[in-house]
Amino acid sequence: MSGRFIPTSIRRQLRQEAGFGCAQCGNPLIEYHHIIPWSESKVHRPEHMVALCGTCHTSIGKLQRSVAYRLKAAPKNIKDGKIHGLLGTDKAQPSFVLGTNTFIRTPDVFRYFGRTIFKYDVREGQHLISAYLPRDDFWPELRIVENDMTMDTAKFWDVEFRTNYFRVQRKTRETFLEIDLRGEHAKVAADFSIRGQRFIFDDEQSSIGSSSIQNSTMIDCGAGISFGDRGERLMLPNYAQHHSRVGLLREGRSIQWI
Ligand SMILES: [Zn+2]
Repeated sequence: MSGRFIPTSIRRQLRQEAGFGCAQCGNPLIEYHHIIPWSESKVHRPEHMVALCGTCHTSIGKLQRSVAYRLKAAPKNIKDGKIHGLLGTDKAQPSFVLGTNTFIRTPDVFRYFGRTIFKYDVREGQHLISAYLPRDDFWPELRIVENDMTMDTAKFWDVEFRTNYFRVQRKTRETFLEIDLRGEHAKVAADFSIRGQRFIFDDEQSSIGSSSIQNSTMIDCGAGISFGDRGERLMLPNYAQHHSRVGLLREGRSIQWI
């Protein structure tokens, strides 16, 4: 039964163990290194394998096996508690699809109380994706600032990061965020909640709290989908705050902490 193909469950186990990045440098574009060489063992045993990026794979493959076992025991992303990565950008699609809606030259794709949740812009043939996916209390679980992604390692069940493709799952059979840049459109699916309201964007639906916007195409729009009162602005939690809180700032009124 055993072949060179590494079973999906073993790949996932190695990603989870390494905090979804190279055990040495944290790069999320990973390969699976056999510490006991495949030619010697002819089996995929996760206890003798470790997730490494292409560059570290080459260099660590030349060193003593003990180096790889040490990295396996203390991977960078687990020590840091964070994942960093740059979304692959070898082409820029002119249109952005979020759920069932299409956005063309409409960079502010989705805003929540004045705060950008999804943004998509094309500059000099390069796409720039920004996303802010919060927990229910609006603390960020995943942030992308112009393709530069940061997320907390511990929160996720699986993170698949490949050239032009990125998918994050908090639990099995659930997509928290998927960015697919392989096709004609930049395509995004997401499922998250803010303050008890659920937002689902997938092939079948674009649910925004209790309402939905389906199958629209927005071209040259100043703003795409906007959720929340125009007169209110969300104050984001801040690492500098002693007790981090989220507030709603209403015009002409004091901040209401939520
Ligand atoms: Zn590496």
